[in-house]
Amino acid sequence: PGSRSYTGLVEDCCCDYETAGSLNEQVLHPILRELVKTPFFRYFKVKLWCDCPFWPDDGMCHLRDCSVCECQESEFPEPFKKSSGVLSADDVICQEGKPQAAVDRTLDDKIFNGWIEIDNPWTYDDETDNTAMTYVNLQLNPERYTGYAGPSAQRIWAAVYQENCPQYPSEDLCHEKKVMYKLISGLHSSISVHIASDYLLDAFANLWGQNLELLYDRVWKHPDHVRNLYFVYLFVLRAVTKAADYLEQAEYNTGNPIEDLKTQSLVRQLLYNPKLLSACPVPFDEAKLWQGENGPELKQQIQQQFRNISAVMNCVGCEKCRLWGKLQVNGLATALKILFSVDGENNQNQPLQLQRNEVIALFNLLNRLSESIKFVHDMEPLMEKMERHD
Ligand code: FAD
Repeated sequence: PGSRSYTGLVEDCCCDYETAGSLNEQVLHPILRELVKTPFFRYFKVKLWCDCPFWPDDGMCHLRDCSVCECQESEFPEPFKKSSGVLSADDVICQEGKPQAAVDRTLDDKIFNGWIEIDNPWTYDDETDNTAMTYVNLQLNPERYTGYAGPSAQRIWAAVYQENCPQYPSEDLCHEKKVMYKLISGLHSSISVHIASDYLLDAFANLWGQNLELLYDRVWKHPDHVRNLYFVYLFVLRAVTKAADYLEQAEYNTGNPIEDLKTQSLVRQLLYNPKLLSACPVPFDEAKLWQGENGPELKQQIQQQFRNISAVMNCVGCEKCRLWGKLQVNGLATALKILFSVDGENNQNQPLQLQRNEVIALFNLLNRLSESIKFVHDMEPLMEKMERHD
């Protein structure tokens, strides 16, 4: 419909834009939106301190809307805490000075039934290292406009693209590298969409709202930015559905039986959704990758590049952007792990093992992408109008 430049099948994927857009809007987004509010999915464990291996001067946040509100002590699920966890005064310091944003720096030991601690080869952070980790309530810290921009932000994006594919968009680039580029670009589009959908319109009045010019300029005007957003969404959706049996049986206990049953039910509704299974049963065909004769080396190389991208996230100079950057790159690394580290050429018969935090990152990433697709889909008529006047 309209003049939009993305129609037909999403590249490398098994479903078209129209189907993906309406499936998201009518079926998946309503489930995901509820799922990420549940206690299991709203607390993300993260090392927020700047631990930048590249530019030691970076990583400090001086912007008002940038700092992160961590968990309220009282609402923090019991099983997420250390069994002996007693909070000291230092543990409950609020970074923004608001009492409701107290920090809980207690950490989970191995008290999660069914959850393991294992390193993910696609990430830089050592997932088993609990030092300086903190829990963040994602619902209190929406990804939105923060004012983070300028040389620091540009430096990060440039490093991410440079790391992945120095010669892009050269035609010589192999298929696998193009896939990696599209994942990063799609994530970049999604971040821009969130900035546009929740923007500080008037700082004095503290008025927040939509910034459609920003959406048009950064995303809509560049058809590949929109296409890559759909691509990364279907890629992550494929990872989630591929791991369906594992995810269905996982432990979602937070000590609140009513909420935990709801979480389990929503997870099932998502994984075995009849509409999803009939409209788009295999959203991305990962079997086509790493088939060339240098497949295993290429996979190693790309894995290393992705680890470097994950390391770059530690250098993001705005705490809230760093939180969401780390979460979403962790989510992507989890999708890559599901799709490529299991049943891979080097790992025959290796069973899938995910950490709780990886699952939290994966579903929150899918929700963020789903929100972005919905916003772009909803704004389509307005974007087309702006295009005609451009
Ligand atoms: P940028 O978005 O910085 O883009 C830089 C260049 O990259 C563009 O000029 C273009 O050439 C290219 N580019 C842009 N989009 C794409 C795409 N989709 N695919 C391929 N190439 C592209 N700001 C916030 O307000 N809130 C946040 O939560 C937030 N999170 C961030 C998280 C990370 C990890 C990073 C690195 C930055 C984040 N920022 C956030 C900053 C934000 O992404 C922009 O960098 C900032 O708003 C300045 O935008 P810009 O117009 O200079 O273009």
